[in-house]
Amino acid sequence: MVSTSTKRASLHTLGCRLNQSETLLMQQRLRDEGYEIVPLGESADLGIINTCTVTNLADAKCRQTIRQFVRKNPEAYTAVVGCYSQMGSKEIASIGGVDLIIGNQDKMSVVDFIGQEKNEKPVIIRDKISQSDFSISFVGDAPFNQRANLKIQDGCSFVCSFCIIPFARGASRSRDYQNLIDEAKAKAAQGVREIVITGVNIGTYRTGDADLLRVLEGLNAIDGIDRIRVSSIEPTTIPAELFGLMNDADHALLPFFHIPLQAGSDKVLKEMRRKYTISEYLEFLHRAHDNVEGLYVGSDIMVGFPGETEEEFQETCRVFLDNPFDFCHVFSFSEREGTLAAKREDQVPVEERQRRSAYLRRLSSKKRYDFYEAHLGQTMKVLFENPKPDVWPSYTDNYIRVVAPRDSLNGEDLSNRCAMVTLKRIAADFVEGEIVRMLD
Ligand code: SF4
Repeated sequence: MVSTSTKRASLHTLGCRLNQSETLLMQQRLRDEGYEIVPLGESADLGIINTCTVTNLADAKCRQTIRQFVRKNPEAYTAVVGCYSQMGSKEIASIGGVDLIIGNQDKMSVVDFIGQEKNEKPVIIRDKISQSDFSISFVGDAPFNQRANLKIQDGCSFVCSFCIIPFARGASRSRDYQNLIDEAKAKAAQGVREIVITGVNIGTYRTGDADLLRVLEGLNAIDGIDRIRVSSIEPTTIPAELFGLMNDADHALLPFFHIPLQAGSDKVLKEMRRKYTISEYLEFLHRAHDNVEGLYVGSDIMVGFPGETEEEFQETCRVFLDNPFDFCHVFSFSEREGTLAAKREDQVPVEERQRRSAYLRRLSSKKRYDFYEAHLGQTMKVLFENPKPDVWPSYTDNYIRVVAPRDSLNGEDLSNRCAMVTLKRIAADFVEGEIVRMLD
């Protein structure tokens, strides 16, 4: 039974950046209701697990997390929300101890559905996902983070053959323009200096006469927002005007792209139902690289898609190596029931997927090393984050991870301040820097 005196809530997120930003909003709402937020391993009166269903493996991880929570907290009210709740409510309902299962349409209102007593059988709320644009109610007292996600869009209408997201999150829809600007203003008023624009397919943002460019214009006009980063964006949806904004010293948009490539072979791309050919993608990539100074480009690449031959995999590696990519997240193809790709009979053996994945990861580390190395000796602007035990972590505008010793400037508090830092040496996956001067 949920005790009104203790009110300890534990939230856990699986999956993407969007899920993380949504969990943060749920946390804020719970704090407002008087809950104390505790980490997953601690005892709690309420658990909310925000799930992912991107692969069968993701489903298994969700079930494991739910069981872990219930085992640790058999008396706690347990709510499971999000993509897996949308697609796999029956499987979740078969796990003992779950009280509430909410799909994506209503998950942001989870707090309104929480009961005082545990249920004998889980209540399942799994409404059809609306196609309309949306607003989000937010409150302004989140735990402070210099870099804050701002959700502008949800769902996707592209239906790639390996992806369940269009079914789990519904068709693409956009957040009310004024509503998102109001949230960004509230974040800036708390001291947030960097906004990361998030969504499932953010390049398709459109509501009334507002599009992604209008969002950037609106965010840039907010006092206190010094940096705007566009998170992962589909290659066919990027307006070329972004290049000019990235080069404009008076605009907060940073020289950063994360553009999923997925495969370097036209045959594989076609079977994935991606919306571009390799030459179209590369034409854009080179135009971006040639037009934006110091641009960082990250990507997502999937290996071991059904039917992918060794030659096609090598083609992908060549495309990645020979073109201006600076890093890639490598995903091994993992079957997701309900998708076209999972039905194919020509699945690549799992060990082979793992081998390809490890190989490409090594190439990616090398590319990132090269990108970092090309910047050694330069003095660049960074924004310091909250301190770690020994260092002040930060990112440059173009996403180089830079750390400065914790005792820099006689141990002054550097958090949420900008500085010019000289990049000295590469250590593991970051660069050690020396502060030349503080900018504020
Ligand atoms: S663009 Fe493709 S991979 Fe990305 S969410 Fe949409 S369907 Fe999935």
